[in-house]
Amino acid sequence: MQQKKALVLGAGGFIGSHMVKKLKKEGFWVRGVDLKFPLFSETQADDFVIGDLRDPYLCKNIIDMKFDEVYQFAADMGGAGYIFTGENDADIMHNSATINLNILDASMRRNIKRIFYSSSACIYPQENQVDPDNPNCEESSAYPAHPDSEYGWEKLFSERLFLSYGKNYGMEPRIARYHNVFGPEGTWQGGKEKVPAAMCRKVAEAIKNNKNEIEIWGDGEQTRSFLYIDECLEGTCRLMRSDWTGPVNIGSDERIAINNLAKMAMAIAGQNFALKHIPGPQGVRGRNSDNRLISEKLNWRPSRPLKDGMTQTYQWIEKQVQAQK
Ligand code: NAD
Repeated sequence: MQQKKALVLGAGGFIGSHMVKKLKKEGFWVRGVDLKFPLFSETQADDFVIGDLRDPYLCKNIIDMKFDEVYQFAADMGGAGYIFTGENDADIMHNSATINLNILDASMRRNIKRIFYSSSACIYPQENQVDPDNPNCEESSAYPAHPDSEYGWEKLFSERLFLSYGKNYGMEPRIARYHNVFGPEGTWQGGKEKVPAAMCRKVAEAIKNNKNEIEIWGDGEQTRSFLYIDECLEGTCRLMRSDWTGPVNIGSDERIAINNLAKMAMAIAGQNFALKHIPGPQGVRGRNSDNRLISEKLNWRPSRPLKDGMTQTYQWIEKQVQAQK
């Protein structure tokens, strides 16, 4: 049997670099593309192209054969400190939309069928997420649309773009709405890191620098759920190889307030620091994955306790903090 081939776009990023490892374990020949190599470990891709996917010629060059599976993770993205300040909106929309337009056009011309797109829980209307105890993130609630960020609007546009290529050109898009994915080898400092990594770093740095408090943006009562990377990859591959064509949540439904996430990180480290609440970008008040559709369509849902993933992540980030001068 011929070896299957996969293309991973954004293969130098967090989810993409982990996906390359998973596909290699499954026996695929893998090409990765990104602006950069993975930051924390050597890529396992058979072929890795450094290039800018905003360039349509680069996109045509890297899609020079019929891949069995294409995974589109490349996007201009970051945590709340990058997405919600408004300062990066034009870049976020322009860069990510251009990448998606180019990739779909190049894939269609090579007769690629199965293509995965990583959308986000950020597409859900902000008014459905004002109650931290009762957010509504059911897939069908996406419309009438009212995301809380331009990042969310671009994701919604691109979902529709992928679906249109399915409808008009016989492609087979598979679309996940990820909810806060985290784990080792994710961004953990510099402003683009997300909450779980930020909490682990703050705790590890407080220990290193003999501090007795850590800072939290806002009142810390806003809620979220966080999905460990291994389950994200498992759900993504299950979706990719399923017959379900609509956008579906891939997220954990273990909702937690940010203050409690901080306490969890402290408990893992065996510490009990004070929480200092400071002004900062927060996003919506509550968000949680609604996992009814994924359970029904894939007969699977993420189930791993948050504490397990946080423990793995804390151990990895603690090593990074210790190694820093
Ligand atoms: P990431 O930032 O680590 O990875 C994205 C990668 O895309 C980066 O390595 C970046 O260099 C690359 N990239 C950006 N612009 C590029 C360009 N012009 N040409 C080539 N490469 C380019 O992000 P991630 O956490 O791995 O997320 C992957 C995807 O999943 C993104 O589309 C993101 O929006 C989506 N998503 C992630 C989460 C999450 O919690 N991690 C949640 C919802 C959605």
